[in-house]
Amino acid sequence: MGQEVLVLNSDYEPLNVCNIRRAIVLVYLGKADILHAHGEDEKREAEAWFTAEGQSIARPSVVKLRQHVRRPLPELKLSRRSIFARDNYTCQYCGQVGKELTIDHVVPKHNGGPMSWENLVTCCKRCNTRKGDKPLEKCGMKLNRQPRRPRYTPYIALNKYVSGTRHAVWRDYLPIFTDVGGVVQ
Ligand SMILES: [Zn+2]
Repeated sequence: MGQEVLVLNSDYEPLNVCNIRRAIVLVYLGKADILHAHGEDEKREAEAWFTAEGQSIARPSVVKLRQHVRRPLPELKLSRRSIFARDNYTCQYCGQVGKELTIDHVVPKHNGGPMSWENLVTCCKRCNTRKGDKPLEKCGMKLNRQPRRPRYTPYIALNKYVSGTRHAVWRDYLPIFTDVGGVVQ
């Protein structure tokens, strides 16, 4: 903790996570500005980094590039992790948030349910057991929302994105990476 720096594009789009040394170089070269630094003001003094000229630079936590960087939007791969992130680690049937999560095929595999963004959802163990291999209408359960391919695709690698949401000051810059499907009635 504390050594990672969130790098934003000039339009505040999250671009990358880098180490503090790299971020200091970007700031020192005038390529980026510090938006947030670690620590309180009094601590900042002690934690400042000193440049060759003896200037101190607060240890950045979030920096923003001055020049806009163009990047192709990466394709987000379908995986357990990306499904969990899309669903915000929340069971899509009962709303439980937690660690005991699994992936549920809404339309069961043996009924031809595909491995797709639209057919895979985050599910707690309890709901998974209750649903079993039955189609939804046979078990009286319903989805809280319609699963879709996430509208937002992070530029930064998913694992960095997910761990980044644990930094309180980063959260303001990380768009909610979630399915924005309509609520299922
Ligand atoms: Zn559940």
